[in-house]
Amino acid sequence: MKRFAYARIMQETNALSPVKTALPDFEGSHYLTGDALAAAVGPGGHEIAGFFKKAELAGFVEGVARHGGGEPVPLFSAWASSSGPLTRACYDTLRERLVDGLRGARARGLDGVYLCLHGAMGVEGVRDPETQLLRAAREAAGGVPVVTTHDLHGNLTRERVAAADAIVAYGTNPHRDHARVGRKAAEILGGVAAGRLRPTTAWRSLPLLLGGGRTIDFLPPMRAVFRRMRRAERKGEALAASTFMVHPWNDDPALGWSTIVTTDGDQAGADRLADELAQMCWERRHEQPPTFATPADAIFQARKARLRRKLGVVTMSDASDVVTAGAPGDSTHLLRALLEDGRDLVTYAAVRDPDAVDTLWPHPPGDEVRLEVGGKLDPTSSTPLPVRGTVVSKHQLVGFLRVVVLAVDHLRLVITEGPAMVMKPSFYTDVGLDIWKADVVVVKNFFPFLLFFLPYNRKTIFVRTRGVTDFDAAYRLTFDGPMHPRDPVDDWRPRDRARREP
Ligand SMILES: [Zn+2]
Repeated sequence: MKRFAYARIMQETNALSPVKTALPDFEGSHYLTGDALAAAVGPGGHEIAGFFKKAELAGFVEGVARHGGGEPVPLFSAWASSSGPLTRACYDTLRERLVDGLRGARARGLDGVYLCLHGAMGVEGVRDPETQLLRAAREAAGGVPVVTTHDLHGNLTRERVAAADAIVAYGTNPHRDHARVGRKAAEILGGVAAGRLRPTTAWRSLPLLLGGGRTIDFLPPMRAVFRRMRRAERKGEALAASTFMVHPWNDDPALGWSTIVTTDGDQAGADRLADELAQMCWERRHEQPPTFATPADAIFQARKARLRRKLGVVTMSDASDVVTAGAPGDSTHLLRALLEDGRDLVTYAAVRDPDAVDTLWPHPPGDEVRLEVGGKLDPTSSTPLPVRGTVVSKHQLVGFLRVVVLAVDHLRLVITEGPAMVMKPSFYTDVGLDIWKADVVVVKNFFPFLLFFLPYNRKTIFVRTRGVTDFDAAYRLTFDGPMHPRDPVDDWRPRDRARREP
């Protein structure tokens, strides 16, 4: 029986965030090995507690059974919240565990390896670390085929493409097809192992950092690109076709949107489609992300939306401090404005502040406290906010660690020790806050919250202040040449050629 090892090392790095990611950030969020992992990704399991019942690895295991059978060999699955770069020690440990796991599995024979990576993970002092992981995996597994899947915000490099037999990205944004890409990886690995498939890949790289508007897969202008990819896969034109719309806060100088196509032995076909997709993306380069409201505007709009507040809530996305895009989650700009100007609005908001949690933890509910919150993890973006309030409740939650709810006037402030990843209503309901009772709910997420808050949300306002997830904050990074839209770029092809040819 063919044996296929699988593992996940996944984190999206915001190179501008000063908050480094260490091993406890993985082990305290999602870390499963061996049998526990096999159970979590098997029928009836829950792959990533609190997030996904079925994600890439469950899809992979299902795909192995579907495409000719075989034995899936679980190594480990490690996931951490988007944040700053991994420390070198954290990365070295995870890489060693991967290599050790593969060497152990190889002793009983291996026919392929599937690595579930983010594609935009950064490590202190290591350029393109995910390519290093792919190379290490192939070597440890004895040169067998290696397939990887990425989030579509990953960044492709020449070395990355060379290091894998196929790279498959999500085909949805917000991402909903995690299991599909896992099944795809199984289909390709299984096909190669059975001698049925000869994957051939072509890719293109664009000096394009922002474009495509809101980049939602089912809305224009990106809808046509996503449809073209799905059509190619459905008609058998490609085994896999992907477009990477890139996480802009990535410090690899060869950053930019890219396309990649894998066919069954048809190099010309792969080149043709990768090229066509790249050109479609380039044509959408002038569609920029929307400009967002100031806090004062946002509060004004929320106040005006009386009926909508009565029927549900107004959600405000704190777009400069998006934790799911790697921001520290401790910005105080919007909080300060809501405290000062939003007095008539019952508001739920969050801030990450481990020091404040330490201070508050000994206090029983009902205690009056005075302290400063936020503005400490990233002191260059915002300053600590002095508040006076009452401790409402205390909790210990997976991923968020210790959490204290503080009542400050009309504000219910959820102070977390871990990343304040506010994307789902459960962030608030798990600490006893009823969404229906709020006028305004603040989230720290760009798009997926729109799906999760659908039952409650009657109006959405994106608020910009100052932080590491401002789109133009990425312009501080160093690129390998002019980058659209920061710089004028006439033609994407010369840079594509330079990036692809050694
Ligand atoms: Zn993504």
